[in-house]
Amino acid sequence: MSETAPQRCGYVALAGRPNVGKSTLMNHLLGRKLGITSRKPQTTRQAMLGILNRNEAQIVFVDTPGIHKSRGRVLNRYMAGQTASALAGVDLALMQVEAQGWKDGDEIVLRRIAEAAAPCICVVNKMDRLARKERLLPLFDELRQKHDFEEIMPVSALRNVGLDQLADAVAERLPEGPHLFAEDQVTDRPLAFLLAETIREKAVRRLGAELPHRTAVEVERIAREGATTEIHAVIYVERETQKRIAIGKGGAMLKSIREDASRDIEALLEPPAGTVALHLWVKVVPRWSDSAQAMQRLGYR
Ligand code: GDP
Ligand code: MG
Repeated sequence: MSETAPQRCGYVALAGRPNVGKSTLMNHLLGRKLGITSRKPQTTRQAMLGILNRNEAQIVFVDTPGIHKSRGRVLNRYMAGQTASALAGVDLALMQVEAQGWKDGDEIVLRRIAEAAAPCICVVNKMDRLARKERLLPLFDELRQKHDFEEIMPVSALRNVGLDQLADAVAERLPEGPHLFAEDQVTDRPLAFLLAETIREKAVRRLGAELPHRTAVEVERIAREGATTEIHAVIYVERETQKRIAIGKGGAMLKSIREDASRDIEALLEPPAGTVALHLWVKVVPRWSDSAQAMQRLGYR
């Protein structure tokens, strides 16, 4: 690092409709897993920061639940609010679209970005899904006509293609200024949140159809004793029938979720966690996703 290079620092919003790969992009840019991901839309519920130090620049990514119509239950309106406030006042926005083409949902995202008036790089993700790269040219033309993007950059977040170039393009556009976070800090979220999200990811991936949207996780206790880290957590659902599904026959479903989560948690804890002893319970809180009060209790502030 040069002594004379000015320090840069800024907030960069990850914008895009649900499922375009925002959390995957943030995790792969940071080189570690912070945000949870899944094939099911609306996996991310709360905005979270991911901090990347690159040469003289500190890039503060804001991962968001994604921009979609804010209707329906309290949880949906909460998620839309998280995204709207994340876009306000950022130094740069990354608008993610899929290489397969522009979709209706992208239109709403672009409108929000135009309203926020932040400079924007368009990130064309999931390049690995495109068999014929020449299909990109018409998409690039279309994108150029839709908005005055700073740049249009093809990437594959999942396969780590184009991410160095993207990080450089982001870094050089940040304003000069001192770094806001310690050099070893990677997120604004406490460990209990990261653990709860890891467990929720495994539940979301294992549980079919509607249930993921009715699931919340709270970590009640983290205790390190010698080489063992004890974690107590509760998976909340809305109905007795959902509880039975989440537990499974003879506890089989809960056991799978516990095993999946334990593996990730071991990688998440530093220094090496030793043995992770994860204890999971399932509890019913009727209609928590439609109650502002219940949501507050579960950590959605
Ligand atoms: P988000 O809702 O925008 O945060 O999307 P996620 O990061 O949760 O990703 C949604 C799905 O897209 C997951 O199944 C990811 O594995 C997948 N995905 C993300 N990036 C890529 C990519 O570059 N290529 C492919 N093939 N899949 C991707
Ligand atoms: Mg996400």
